[in-house]
Amino acid sequence: MAVTASEKKLLIGGEWVETGDWVEVRSPYSGDLVGRVAKAGAAEARRAIDAAEAAMREPLPAHKRAEILVRVAGYLGRRHDEVAQTISAEAGKPLKAAKVEAARAMSTFTMAAVEARKLAGEMVPMDASQAGEGKLAFTLRLPIGVVGAISPFNFPLNLVAHKIAPALAAGCAVVLKPASQTPFSALLLAELETEAGLPPGWLNVLVGPASEIGDVLVEDERVRAITFTGSSEVGWKLAERAPRKRVKLELGNATPVIVEADSDLDDAATKLAANAFSFAGQSCISVQRIYVHRSRYDDLLGRFLPKVEALVVGDPADETTDVGPLIDRDARDRVLAWIEEAREAGAEILTGGDLDGELVRPTVIANPSPELKVACEEVFGPVCSVTAYDRLDDAIELANGTRYGLQAGIFTTNVRTALEAAHRLEFGGVTINEAPTFRADQMPYGGVKDSGNTREGPAYAVRELTEDRLVVIDL
Ligand code: NAP
Repeated sequence: MAVTASEKKLLIGGEWVETGDWVEVRSPYSGDLVGRVAKAGAAEARRAIDAAEAAMREPLPAHKRAEILVRVAGYLGRRHDEVAQTISAEAGKPLKAAKVEAARAMSTFTMAAVEARKLAGEMVPMDASQAGEGKLAFTLRLPIGVVGAISPFNFPLNLVAHKIAPALAAGCAVVLKPASQTPFSALLLAELETEAGLPPGWLNVLVGPASEIGDVLVEDERVRAITFTGSSEVGWKLAERAPRKRVKLELGNATPVIVEADSDLDDAATKLAANAFSFAGQSCISVQRIYVHRSRYDDLLGRFLPKVEALVVGDPADETTDVGPLIDRDARDRVLAWIEEAREAGAEILTGGDLDGELVRPTVIANPSPELKVACEEVFGPVCSVTAYDRLDDAIELANGTRYGLQAGIFTTNVRTALEAAHRLEFGGVTINEAPTFRADQMPYGGVKDSGNTREGPAYAVRELTEDRLVVIDL
């Protein structure tokens, strides 16, 4: 592939920097070297924060920030194929899913540009109280300061876009640490930012040991906010260690969907089969737990299983592939162990449950008991379960029976049922007659419970990365 075996440097203060040490990135599918990246440590992290702080001393006006963001969106469009191939090569993401991600990143940048141009405070109605009479007051919406951004491997481009585009829209300089397994998409985005005219220091990219770089971001007081997407375990520890910073967390899920007796089963089966196995289930909102009314259980399986079995498992670089590899061997072994745990507990494996060559085949498990890992923890693999229920109350209780709360869904033709579920499902978002894997990039997206404490989507992220400053004038 054209993008393989490249060598990239770090971006610090507008300079492309080598350190003498390298991080190697290998294809999760073939094990071949995709390339290597200069390895940063604590010293580079401090230099990057210095550069970000220096950059913010000369604020960029909103119209310039917006122009840069729009230009990046345009470049992403022009270099679409290269961008998609970079995602696919380093993450092992099937090319067709990588193309969708590359297109979505354009929309993330475009929406962030809109927010940059809209950023404004508000008037305070001062004569609403006696104390305010004779005064005029308003708020300014100011950038919070240097932002530390940490991103995961599974959307190596668009989740980086969701970190850096809103931060720049808000007027914040960024020190980004992408996942070590997938740094090339982030570095490509940094090249595009530079080409688009972003002055030195506004975006710095560090690749290297997570805890070393993370420690500097946590300890340095100049980093005022940390925006983190990744696992709950790492995210909540970061928040505990940085109580005086804004630490914004986008974490995992064990995504449930309820299929009511009155729903359109063909529609549900099609959407669920596509969204339980895309990128081998390595999406935080991959459909994982399907609860179907007992009266339609066999009917749903009859439509769902053939669609799952028709998914093409194989090389992510092949345009026809639906399901590729997991990110590494450890992930694969863990997913196989969780399937085995369910099998040993007596759950029936309806399809899959084994390997196709080196890849985990799309796996459907029938009626696992709720305490099994596949039924309450985040599988993050090509595995979903289908469980029969008798009453909507039971389905909602089962769906809520997890420490996570990112997105959930329900299929029903009854508006009352849909709205009842929307109120009672304890999740940050509820989709109706759509798989809960659905996301448009301007949506408020984020979780409750262990799934996080924030909402992304440029409008919401900009709000999180800015502060109100009150101005009072005595007239
Ligand atoms: P992860 O292991 O938590 O890693 C995420 C990022 O955190 C990586 O850049 C990683 O760096 C870094 N990291 C690890 N330990 C750290 C530490 N001690 N200090 C600072 N940074 C540290 O997660 P992942 O396996 O890449 O991603 C999968 C998880 O992300 C899943 O749980 C998924 O649900 C979640 N996710 C959530 C969303 C959302 O929007 N809610 C979206 C996508 C994914 P290294 O790569 O160098 O280890």
